[in-house]
Amino acid sequence: MTKTPRVRFAPSPTGPLHIGGVRTALFNYLFTKKKQGTFVLRIEDTDQNRFVHGAEDYITDALNWCNIPFDEGPGKDGGFGPYRQSERKHLYRQYADELIAKGYAYYAFDTSEELEAHRKNHEAQGKTFIYNWHNRAKLTNSLSLSDSETESKINSGEPYVIRFKSPQDEILVLTDEIRGEITIDTNVLDDKILFKSDGMPTYHLANIVDDHLMEITHVIRGEEWLPSLPLHILLYRAFDWESPKFAHLPLILKPTGKGKLGKRDGIKGGFPVFPLEWKDPKTEEIASGYREDGYLPEAVINMLAFLGWNPGTEQELFSLEELVKEFDLTRVNKAGAKFDPEKTKWFQQQHFQNADINLHVEQLKNILSKKNISYSFDLEEVVSLIQERAIFSNDLWDLSSFLFIAPSEYDEKAVKKAWKEDTPDLMHELTRILSDINNFTSDTISNIVKSWIKSKEIGFGKIMMPLRISLVGSLQGPDLFEIMSIIGKNETIKRIESTKEKL
Ligand code: GLU
Repeated sequence: MTKTPRVRFAPSPTGPLHIGGVRTALFNYLFTKKKQGTFVLRIEDTDQNRFVHGAEDYITDALNWCNIPFDEGPGKDGGFGPYRQSERKHLYRQYADELIAKGYAYYAFDTSEELEAHRKNHEAQGKTFIYNWHNRAKLTNSLSLSDSETESKINSGEPYVIRFKSPQDEILVLTDEIRGEITIDTNVLDDKILFKSDGMPTYHLANIVDDHLMEITHVIRGEEWLPSLPLHILLYRAFDWESPKFAHLPLILKPTGKGKLGKRDGIKGGFPVFPLEWKDPKTEEIASGYREDGYLPEAVINMLAFLGWNPGTEQELFSLEELVKEFDLTRVNKAGAKFDPEKTKWFQQQHFQNADINLHVEQLKNILSKKNISYSFDLEEVVSLIQERAIFSNDLWDLSSFLFIAPSEYDEKAVKKAWKEDTPDLMHELTRILSDINNFTSDTISNIVKSWIKSKEIGFGKIMMPLRISLVGSLQGPDLFEIMSIIGKNETIKRIESTKEKL
């Protein structure tokens, strides 16, 4: 029987979470939720030098905003905690010791100066220095020293690291759920450090131990971790633990398709590469975020899902629930996925149009209250009038502001084009027609005004254009009869009269 999956997202809190990280979290979430599995957040903070204040909260906030919250993690114990590696410090040493006892790891005393000298020496001969089977016998470690020499070094407090003893002359065949079989000659591997001289485990050891203890069934992570896969598989073997399945997601590439998408690309291209805005605690520099730029999380999620995955059909618009249903690791590509800011906008536009009108009404209400604008209109009517042309929530205001605030300035070109000598008289006559309408709905206004224009045997533009200038301030905007019915009879007449006075 296959186990219910337990997956983890394991970021290091070294700064704001890049959208590539959100994509990794999303694919983990989709994969596990499809099978009613568990999504774990583990904070990999063993490298205290790179710790950034606020980064962990940012990660949690970003996942919550995207509607892909973790099931287990800091503050949500599921019986496998603690979930911050800094709180698990005491756990790792025994595993390093176990590997030494079994002959899979060893103490190494080489100082960084000595290692640097070896590196230089090799370089001078046109070679690369790798700490492994090839030269470990010539270096200062518990494999080259006698037991008593090793012991006395340790007892005298000499600093050391614990290295993994990678096997010699073996061809490893690894399986990746996305890439298939990968063959590796172990002779090219170096003896990676598992435990540092400062008493902390390295990423490799802590990551394997935690994945094992947290009973992780599938490791889904970025392609940049693929080179670590041989070591990780060898570690599972050395511990005699069942290894989880691995899937390495393709890189997210710059819009040009050349190279990995980075922070600079966003600044250059004017698009966010972070889910939420981030203020660097040291430099106070602000990096823009999708949330603050007015994107809907649904749109961001949909866009991210298509960075490396496709459903195999023509369908592009997906809700989170639909993604959970359709997602499949076998449909994730190996090749890098090009980030497309225009396509991102398109996803936003589509989701914005499809969103529940109440959401937009709420957003507009918030904008109005922030601006201290009072109104007596039905906001649902306002939103229906403009929604079609809005892409972001701020557009709701930009497209409807003329309803709330009467124009005080008029587009010069429009005035030149449409405000003629006979316009004031026509507008005056129009106000008389309008004031006689009792049922001031768009249909009634439309019928009465249109038949009046017809009876006068003049072109529609002669009335409709100056009327639009009076109500909107320019020749743009939605249906005039709808506008009149929303702002009401008094306001309509007031605007026409005051425009007449000003022009
Ligand atoms: N801490 C690693 C990172 O920052 C986790 C890599 C993994 O998922 O194994 O991405």
